[in-house]
Amino acid sequence: MTAIFSCVASAFSCCFKKQKVDEDEMPQTVLQAGQIAQAVIPNRPVTEGAVSVVPLSERNVPFLQMTTEDDMASHQTMKQVAQVWRRQGKVNYLVYSTVNLEKAEQNYTLEMLPFSNQHSFKRELSLLWKTVFGAKSITAQKREQQQLSFAASSTGSSIVRREVLPDPFCDPERIRLQSVFEGETVRILYNYAPIDMGDKKALHFLVIPKEHRTNFDELKQEEYLEAQALTRQLILQFKQSGDAGFVIMYHKTGRPAGQTVGHWHNHIVLIPKEPDTICEKLNLIFRTVYRPKVSAKLLAERVAAHSKTLKILKEHVDYKSA
Ligand SMILES: [Zn+2]
Repeated sequence: MTAIFSCVASAFSCCFKKQKVDEDEMPQTVLQAGQIAQAVIPNRPVTEGAVSVVPLSERNVPFLQMTTEDDMASHQTMKQVAQVWRRQGKVNYLVYSTVNLEKAEQNYTLEMLPFSNQHSFKRELSLLWKTVFGAKSITAQKREQQQLSFAASSTGSSIVRREVLPDPFCDPERIRLQSVFEGETVRILYNYAPIDMGDKKALHFLVIPKEHRTNFDELKQEEYLEAQALTRQLILQFKQSGDAGFVIMYHKTGRPAGQTVGHWHNHIVLIPKEPDTICEKLNLIFRTVYRPKVSAKLLAERVAAHSKTLKILKEHVDYKSA
């Protein structure tokens, strides 16, 4: 209960405090610069140490227009950030992004959030709250500390011990029940406990590698590229049919970050529109936390329907780099 109250209090202070506009226009603090993508400190981090992966400044790259080269660059940047974090002892993290399909020109930003080594539901809920309602801006001092500590950890190595998690995604029977599309190196599953916004569509998919990979650190570049290419095609399908206006994507590495299945999977959740009012935002938080399993019959119906819709994907997917 106290967790919920402290969340409510922090959200209200965020919502009603008059924010200075120029804070959002501060120059970005770059942690890792690449040719195409870069890692920066977000102006309003939802947790301490959060990192945003964005296209190089002056480039505008909406998610649906990203090329294989853009995916490669962001994959590489994320891996570099994860490597630095590992040397700092931060081995658990969440990666998330959202895409508003009605704002076609919106730049694509991936948020990487480090987690402490202890799993805490309160913390998970607090982060969920801040991703939906927004977070406070970071002080210049904290920004500088984060930059210095990141630079200091750019070399060296570390060993990671992880809790072994159950792995249903190497079980052929589970794949048979949930698979809606087979790619070359990845497949798309329908989630049996989907985020259902109450519109009865519950478009919640999981993109998983066919080969066993425990988490993002182990995922091969080729698998990531195909996963992203398929995700864009999947989103386009549901955008064109008018069933999706907003997309939420996230994956977790490590039990403390909320990973419960020991086989990497990226969640793709398509909902009718971006939550705008307080009620809609609260509804999204509630639906994300409360996700009952669908019945076996409903699961079979939805898997059959989506398999039919997504058959078309194969012809369009091109993820091999030149
Ligand atoms: Zn597996």
